[in-house]
Amino acid sequence: TLVRNGASVTFEGVSFGYPGGRPVFDGLHLVIAPGQRVGLVGRSGSGKSTVFALLQRFYDVQGGRILIDGQDIARVTQESLRASIAVVPQDVSMFNRTIRENIRYGRPDATDEEVWQAAEAARCTEFIAELPAGLDTPVGDRGVKLSGGQRQRIAIARAFLKDAPILLLDEATSALDVESEEAIREALARLMTGRTVLAIAHRLSTVSNFDRILVFRDGEIVQDGAPGHL
Ligand code: ATP
Ligand code: MG
Repeated sequence: TLVRNGASVTFEGVSFGYPGGRPVFDGLHLVIAPGQRVGLVGRSGSGKSTVFALLQRFYDVQGGRILIDGQDIARVTQESLRASIAVVPQDVSMFNRTIRENIRYGRPDATDEEVWQAAEAARCTEFIAELPAGLDTPVGDRGVKLSGGQRQRIAIARAFLKDAPILLLDEATSALDVESEEAIREALARLMTGRTVLAIAHRLSTVSNFDRILVFRDGEIVQDGAPGHL
């Protein structure tokens, strides 16, 4: 794997409101250095998920610019934007295919060796080995039920395979079993290495070792500093 440093992320006076809705951001400024680990906290509706949506360009901004490594994301191809960002979402969507296909979603060309490496890094190998057909086990309808924590680890394996410089983490609100919690913490620590990380956290403890915490309120960043200062 390449030794990386992550990419820079800049919101330059970004204004945005959802179609038909009131403005969420009115001139939001945010500069994140390559490799920085940033926690996003704040009340429900304060704009945290919208930061993620705009960075992935699910919507176009109505004012200002969003830059990745100095490049306006409105001017790069969807393909290269997608390659820059890996997401570990709150609720991981799984397809009714095999574990293998679910892990290499986003990197369909990945070899079995690469899939196993990613699974290992994401602490998935133990539970995969216990499935009736290992990597070939179908997920979903076909009787295999994965726990929330196992699905999170599949998402982490996907992100390892993708090897993107920017990582977006949306912490699960629901409690995971203790074993999953621990495995996920370890896997994420490894995944975050050498990348720029933006993490929406519902518990401050999740981001207590981050470089920086942003507190959102009503579409504004009302606090920005090291975790110890909050
Ligand atoms: P939570 O902690 O509940 O996830 P959040 O900080 O992620 O909250 P956002 O989802 O970014 O908040 O919401 C910011 C504002 O945009 C809120 O007023 C919300 O109602 C609105 N909003 C969010 N998503 C949409 C959408 N898809 N369509 C219309 N309005 C939306
Ligand atoms: Mg949200």
